[in-house]
Amino acid sequence: MPSTTTSPDPNLDSVLRENRVFPPPAEFAAKARIKSLTEYEERYRKSVADPENFWAEAARELHWFEPWEKVLDWNLPWAKWFVGGKINLSYNCVDRHALGDKRDKVAILWEGEPGEVRKLTFGDLHAEVQRFANVLKGLGIKKGDRIAVYMGMTPELAIAILACARIGAVHSVIFGGFAAHAIVDRVNDAECVAILTQDTSYRRGCEVKLKATVDEALLQCPTVKDVVVYKRSGLPVNMKAGRDQWWHELMAKAEPECPAEALDSEDPLYILYTSGTTGKPKGLVHTTGGYSVQTYLTSKYIFDLQADDVYWCSADIGWVTGHSYVVYGILQNGVTTLMYEGAPNFPEMDRFWRVIDAHKVTIFYTAPTAIRAFIKWGDHFPEKHKLDSLRLLGTVGEPINPEAWMWYRDKIGKGRCPIVDTWWQTETGAIMIAPVPGAVPTKPGSATRPFFGIVPEVVTKEGTPVPAGHGGLLVIRQPWPSMARTIFKDPDRYRSSYWSEIPGSYFTGDGARIDEDGCFWLMGRVDDVLNVSGHRLGTMEVESALVAHPKVAEAAVVGRPDDLKGQAIAAFVTLESEYQPSKELKDELRAWVAKEIGALARPDDIRFTEQLPKTRSGKIMRRLLRELATNGEIKGDTTTLEDFNVIAKLREQDE
Ligand code: ATP
Ligand code: MG
Repeated sequence: MPSTTTSPDPNLDSVLRENRVFPPPAEFAAKARIKSLTEYEERYRKSVADPENFWAEAARELHWFEPWEKVLDWNLPWAKWFVGGKINLSYNCVDRHALGDKRDKVAILWEGEPGEVRKLTFGDLHAEVQRFANVLKGLGIKKGDRIAVYMGMTPELAIAILACARIGAVHSVIFGGFAAHAIVDRVNDAECVAILTQDTSYRRGCEVKLKATVDEALLQCPTVKDVVVYKRSGLPVNMKAGRDQWWHELMAKAEPECPAEALDSEDPLYILYTSGTTGKPKGLVHTTGGYSVQTYLTSKYIFDLQADDVYWCSADIGWVTGHSYVVYGILQNGVTTLMYEGAPNFPEMDRFWRVIDAHKVTIFYTAPTAIRAFIKWGDHFPEKHKLDSLRLLGTVGEPINPEAWMWYRDKIGKGRCPIVDTWWQTETGAIMIAPVPGAVPTKPGSATRPFFGIVPEVVTKEGTPVPAGHGGLLVIRQPWPSMARTIFKDPDRYRSSYWSEIPGSYFTGDGARIDEDGCFWLMGRVDDVLNVSGHRLGTMEVESALVAHPKVAEAAVVGRPDDLKGQAIAAFVTLESEYQPSKELKDELRAWVAKEIGALARPDDIRFTEQLPKTRSGKIMRRLLRELATNGEIKGDTTTLEDFNVIAKLREQDE
């Protein structure tokens, strides 16, 4: 839960100096949907002057069974968007295109890790989604029932959630890399009546035994009555009579037609748990109409989607990024979305670049953690590939260190592709701050300007705006259509986590500053802020200084109590593969940070490590490092940790 316990003064000292600016490449801007900064600013001004009208205009681009009576009903913190309107997201993703002129256009372009390729047109998807919706109905699943989805990245995962959305069943996707106990927590919290899964999926050449993990979890999930198993690899699995059935057998028996239900705009669409970077995951509830509109519109403008794009977001559908920007936002725009099943380093470290060349991917959206891994693996991997189909790049998930941004721009985008650094959260449902790429100049490390209709601000703890250049708390001033409506079964926690910290505003939990051009710079989690001799520093800026050193691949900094300074800075550093840890290198790095951003930020401790503890979605878990640096042990929630060995190794290193 966001908190500001570190100090009564939330203002952050900004130490990062980053002056590089990249205007949109002329060739890109010429063909873009929005072509100039003036045009962006004009539209933005209008959108926030009358947000209801702005969002209503966007909503009219989608199909509604019945129009809304009122755009927004706002009773802080409870929002209703497009009140009284009837809509179906599955219809807008599939039927609208299959029944229109895109029946034979590829909707989902899939590559399995072993190398198979499948192409589903909008027509194919229409047939599959209808049939699977009938399978769900055949199991007695009704509107409002919660359905857990624990699958790998196969087209069937997209079909599964589109089928739920079609009949108003609420999906709860659980990342396929989680262990049984994470399934137990999520399934029981949401009281799911069924689980959709598959025998196994492929990851780094191994079989991930999804069905076996479900079997283990279900020993402790009393609400689950049905399990549907998609056969991906054919590896033998246990099928429990009366509970488990094969996807293909049910599909063979199901009726082909299932019209999309006219759902209420505020009917729940899905529950999704946050990634657990700052604490125990929260089950956020998203509803139908507003979520559809904002994922549609942000996809259209931030990815500048065009009819012939082949768009690839490498996120797993287990995260919100996969929901909004692998499936819903992209398909609503009628654009081809690529899904890749496996690991980026299988069989070799250049798999992503191979995928891009093979399928002529035009837009690529990934996470800073992946980019830092690519840098560590070496430039010769991307250099073996043309990458000339790309026209736009994106990042999401964490602040991107300016040096990683520059590498991405040069080595992958070849200086030709704008980069959209997109700030948003599970709670926001869709992108909130990001450059509109044909219009807004980009700066390495900045998410730049707010999207249309969004009013973010950087404020003190009292809610007063801080002046340009100073850090503070990032809040959102106005409700937005794709905002989460509550935490499942816990409205009080929803109010206290997000709407109580800064009166009248949504509190993001992130620290940020705004520069003279109105660009937002995310400085890290407020929970992670360092307080050194009365100066409050964001983690991101100190980490970026370390990452800018040629020998450093990745860095995480945390505070530990210090009698003199209040907090001392402890830095955990991973090195580029060709360098070895040494006492000299520690001194060199401490001096480097002092020179780059000032003596204040000089780390007191530096520990070299082979890996940093991360969530399964690749975010650095600083709270665990902080505990380790402070107490020498870790007691906090580690259920979403990617690799438990990392903690053991860090401890050993300590001794
Ligand atoms: P939990 O809330 O359980 O701790 P989480 O916040 O990691 O988990 P998500 O909702 O997946 O779960 O992540 C949202 C957070 O990710 C944001 O609050 C922000 O800290 C970070 N983030 C996402 N995109 C960006 C970005 N482009 N720049 C900076 N930070 C980002
Ligand atoms: Mg969060």
